[in-house]
Amino acid sequence: MPYTALQNLRIVMVETSHPGNIGSAARAMKTMGIKDLRLVTPRKPYSQETWALASGANDIVEQAKIVPTLPDALTDCQIVIGASARSERTLQWPQMDARECGEFIAERLVTQPIALVFGRERTGLTNEELDHCNTLVHIPMAFDFLSLNIAMAIQVLAYECATAMRLSSPTPSLGVIDADEALAPSQAMESFYTHLEQSMIETRFLDPENPRLLMRRMRRLFGRAEVTVSELNILRGMLAAFAGRKFQARD
Ligand code: SAH
Repeated sequence: MPYTALQNLRIVMVETSHPGNIGSAARAMKTMGIKDLRLVTPRKPYSQETWALASGANDIVEQAKIVPTLPDALTDCQIVIGASARSERTLQWPQMDARECGEFIAERLVTQPIALVFGRERTGLTNEELDHCNTLVHIPMAFDFLSLNIAMAIQVLAYECATAMRLSSPTPSLGVIDADEALAPSQAMESFYTHLEQSMIETRFLDPENPRLLMRRMRRLFGRAEVTVSELNILRGMLAAFAGRKFQARD
């Protein structure tokens, strides 16, 4: 059954205020065969409403991982997609609609763990949180000044993913891919960004007093590139070589 491939999909909810929304989200996930829920510092403990709205999906709430920060929720994810209620931001991130997102995920999920990140009910995701995303997804709505309830946004995207998985090749490739050719995990990308920033500061290309949007633009560039493990090693080796050092893969 193709739905099992959705086991590689993680749903991340950031600082959710209403315990009921966590229950509804779990139910939305369960109906589409998604199990992995991660909660970044939920505002309130689970309440009666959580369990009432989870209905038959209590197991997903019980097994949800609670973590302090967004990067903690993303350590084992190779692609991170932020769900945004807004279709425009000051510095435009690459953006998909819900259908494109389902297809994008269906093409990659079998071999690459993917996270879909959802923001706070009132204020959504911050730009700093979006920096951790390779791309954004926006579910088009009739009116731009409205937003969907978070659990409903999860339901729509979960459905699009499940449908795209079902429609994609009847026997989705389970081919083992070379570990070096897998996408670099988020943690390795974070170490790279730190390395890149340090190198740019050392060479005075980046003025820490006036960084402007340079690092955000770099994240956008490399996020779009879907960097593999071997490519990341080249990038880190290059930075080290420019500084006259040798890069060890575990640096
Ligand atoms: N006023 C907030 C709305 C947040 S709604 C804002 O402007 O961001 C809570 C979360 O639900 C959002 O952060 C997003 O992850 C998800 N969401 C709501 N509507 C959405 C939409 N149309 N497309 C994608 N995600 C949506």
